[in-house]
Amino acid sequence: MMKDLPEDKWRQKLTPEQYDILRLKGTEAPFTGQYVDHHEDGMYVCAACGKSLFNSATKFDSGSGWPSFWDVASKGNVDTHTDNSPGMSRIEVTCANCGSHLGHLFGDGPSNKTGQRYCINSCSLDFKSKK
Ligand code: FE
Repeated sequence: MMKDLPEDKWRQKLTPEQYDILRLKGTEAPFTGQYVDHHEDGMYVCAACGKSLFNSATKFDSGSGWPSFWDVASKGNVDTHTDNSPGMSRIEVTCANCGSHLGHLFGDGPSNKTGQRYCINSCSLDFKSKK
């Protein structure tokens, strides 16, 4: 079970930047990630475990500087948690398979779709092109 993988194993598997975001709930600087302006057709998967997370068909340009999606690829593949850090009231998004941190969920997504905005770190994602 990937959720039980010891932290030293994650350190070996991931780059230091990926480890900081996926395992320590860091956030990459806006407009720096490789998938912010990425528009190919395919599937965004968890960078830590490979689980399918977000379909390119639900990606939109939010202007936030992070890859943004209005839905998940498959219900059950991502978990949400209320983030009650001091001064915060946010919903954290994690990979349901491995527990890694992906980003946050906000309620200001496209109103003609779901109205939701999954704000996800590029570092937390890999991309599988639909060929
Ligand atoms: Fe994962």
